[in-house]
Amino acid sequence: MCGTRIETTELRYVLKMNLFAAYDTMKLEASDLERNYEEEIQKLIEKMEGMNPKELEEDVFKQYTFDLCRTCQQKFLKNPLGNLEKKSEKTDFPPFDVDDFLRRLEDN
Ligand SMILES: [Zn+2]
Repeated sequence: MCGTRIETTELRYVLKMNLFAAYDTMKLEASDLERNYEEEIQKLIEKMEGMNPKELEEDVFKQYTFDLCRTCQQKFLKNPLGNLEKKSEKTDFPPFDVDDFLRRLEDN
C-alpha cells in the first residue's frame, strides 16, 4: 500500500480479497421450468467466446493478494475500504447489473 520494501525476514501481513458478483434473487416460476436451458447456455457460451476473457472474468470474480507492512496493516484495520470519507465522489463505473450483463451477451 505505501510502497515500502518488506524484507523477507521482516514481519508482513497478507491481505486476500475476493470481489465477486453475487446474484441470489433466485425465484423459480412455472415458465422457468419449460425453458430450454441447454440451448440458452450453449448460446451464452458462444457469445462469450467473442468477448475479452479478462474483462469477462473480472466482471464475475476477481481475487487480490497484498503484502502489507505493519503500518499499512494498522491503517487497513481502521478503514478497510480506504476512502469511506470520500464517498460523495462519483466514479465512472455504473453499478453492475447482472440482468443487463446477460442481455448484452444475448445482443452480441
Ligand atoms: Zn506499508
